[in-house]
Amino acid sequence: MPPRTSRAIVQTGPRQLELREVPIAEIDDDSALLRVEACGICGSDVEQYTGTLPVRLPLIPGHEPLGIIEKIGDRAAKRWGVNAGDRVAVETLIPCGHCRACVDGRYQVCRGRGAMFGYAYVPLSHPPALWGAYADYMYLDPFSLVHKMRKDIPANIAVMFNPLGAGFRWAVELPDTGPGDSVLILGPGQRGLASVIAARAAGADTIIVTGLTRDAQKLALARELGADHVIDIEQEDARARVRELTNGHGADVVVEVSAYAPEPIAEALFYVATGGRIVLAGVKGFKPVPDFISDLIVAKEITIKGAFGVTWRAYESAIRLIESGRVPLAKMHTHDFPLEQAERAIQMLGGEIASESSIHSCLLPEQKMQPPMNTDEHR
Ligand SMILES: [Zn+2]
Ligand SMILES: [Zn+2]
Repeated sequence: MPPRTSRAIVQTGPRQLELREVPIAEIDDDSALLRVEACGICGSDVEQYTGTLPVRLPLIPGHEPLGIIEKIGDRAAKRWGVNAGDRVAVETLIPCGHCRACVDGRYQVCRGRGAMFGYAYVPLSHPPALWGAYADYMYLDPFSLVHKMRKDIPANIAVMFNPLGAGFRWAVELPDTGPGDSVLILGPGQRGLASVIAARAAGADTIIVTGLTRDAQKLALARELGADHVIDIEQEDARARVRELTNGHGADVVVEVSAYAPEPIAEALFYVATGGRIVLAGVKGFKPVPDFISDLIVAKEITIKGAFGVTWRAYESAIRLIESGRVPLAKMHTHDFPLEQAERAIQMLGGEIASESSIHSCLLPEQKMQPPMNTDEHR
């Protein structure tokens, strides 16, 4: 039996998090209760924490949940094809199923229930309050999309379905990447590395990743995960290197996953081959792109696509890849945090902690805080 309350991190304002006990409501026939095993930490957690991303506060953050179905209504079990005790990966978005986006097959941009309706984006005031995975338990709405996953994979690796799903959607599905394609990935963060893994799995030919001098370790990791070449754009002439590595053609596919800086978008037009495809997935805080030369799009017949969120199919590709054990994903996972250290987890990914930085990290609510060492015992 689950307890009557759940520990949860509640965000009350920019940079304000507090640990609270939140009542667990009864579920009905169409919904379920998830016991959270792990919640991935990603760039948008940082933006939500600092207040860059507008959300309705107070709320429980955490939009990359992995967990065990603790309780489930009979109808939900039938509709979702899962039972109590199953491990599931939960999609962030909770689509309405009826709006134009949903019926068009673009449920990841559904706004049918108002604003962005998904885990970590629904305020605490909306019953039953437990709408985020920075908690021991999370409510599963009747319109949730859940993917059953094998239970023998460590939770901190299984929870990578999220960045990897994004890799499949952004680096494979949207640009239609396949054998023979050269793929250039701008940015070696967890999404960039996930794009490397996905492009490799899709049979891409040459994979190149760019980064800054301070990204040396991440660029080395990109090589280990399947990139053929890496470029330090501060030390090398990136345009010339891309041309050289693609036999003078430029990259067939460019995936832009760098955070904040808009300059790589203008550069992408130079890197891409004639007739090539560019996918933009890194958000830039609504800043304009300086030196953006649109004539290059015309002259080279470039296709540019925006990417928001992940699709069911891309998540499935990610989950099958994780379950296959073919890729050494553990190399990408750098940190586990107990629930109490949610703030530290976010700050570390955001580069706010000088001594240490993370690539893929997650909260493990079931992991207890290490008690401080009691020196008395050793006397
Ligand atoms: Zn995320
Ligand atoms: Zn909808």
